Amino acid sequence: MSAVIDPLERIPLRGCLSKMAVEPGIADPDSDAEPAHYTLRVGEQRLDLNARLGEPLRLVWHGNIFCTHCGRRTRKSFAQGYCYPCFKSLAQCDTCIVKPETCHYFAGTCREPAWGERHCFRPHVVYLANSSGLKVGITRGTQIPTRWLDQGAIQALPILEVDTRQQSGFVEMLFKERVADRTNWRAMLKGEVEPLDLSAQRDRLFAQLESGFVPLRERFGADAFQRLDQRPRRFRYPVLEFPRKIASHNFDKQPEVAGTLLGMKGQYLMLDSGVINLRKFTGYEVSVM
Ligand SMILES: [Zn+2]
Repeated sequence: MSAVIDPLERIPLRGCLSKMAVEPGIADPDSDAEPAHYTLRVGEQRLDLNARLGEPLRLVWHGNIFCTHCGRRTRKSFAQGYCYPCFKSLAQCDTCIVKPETCHYFAGTCREPAWGERHCFRPHVVYLANSSGLKVGITRGTQIPTRWLDQGAIQALPILEVDTRQQSGFVEMLFKERVADRTNWRAMLKGEVEPLDLSAQRDRLFAQLESGFVPLRERFGADAFQRLDQRPRRFRYPVLEFPRKIASHNFDKQPEVAGTLLGMKGQYLMLDSGVINLRKFTGYEVSVM
């Protein structure tokens, strides 16, 4: 059961932080940009952050961290929200999730083969996005457009569909010869990102990387790498004012984070006192008021 809290009632919420829920709304007719809507998730409670823009917001960490997987109390958070035993034993915390080309399922060493079959042997999408400039990324089809909003992308375009996570990793490796795969979060948060023609970038990259696909098709089959012909999507974030200088809050150093809420982008809250990447503090038990 999740309770929706009226932001005007100012009832303090208390519970463990999860990453913010971000949903796109209906695109503006003039700019074609879909507006991002943010909901703060604290335990089972919810706070509509868009409705809170321009108002004071205070988060206080009580010193406890609970593993998002097993619920155990942990002194330190590993991989953004896990206890050490989970971090060392779950397939979702293995390095092959971040580097899918290193998938070792077929060597018989997957940490949790059943989990791998459910999550990695599913269609994955390779996309181009513009979060702080052009980047390439991969995601499960079901994570679109959440993945892009979590990265603060202002534009995104799926370019290829493959059958497994490992295959998407090989394609990403190929694209990384020409394109970044990371977001410069400071540039993303300052809002200084110029729009790009993603369709033209896609066509350019496919032309340049043509020969790189030959060995992949030999290995996985001619049909394994399906090009997608979709329209780019645009996103607009709820930001009253972008920070000119970025100062970041960190619960580990300062358990109280307070200020006027100026915006949300990616998994960051922007306050007039600094920014905070809430995803980094998944599992931290906080009060919000
Ligand atoms: Zn755990």
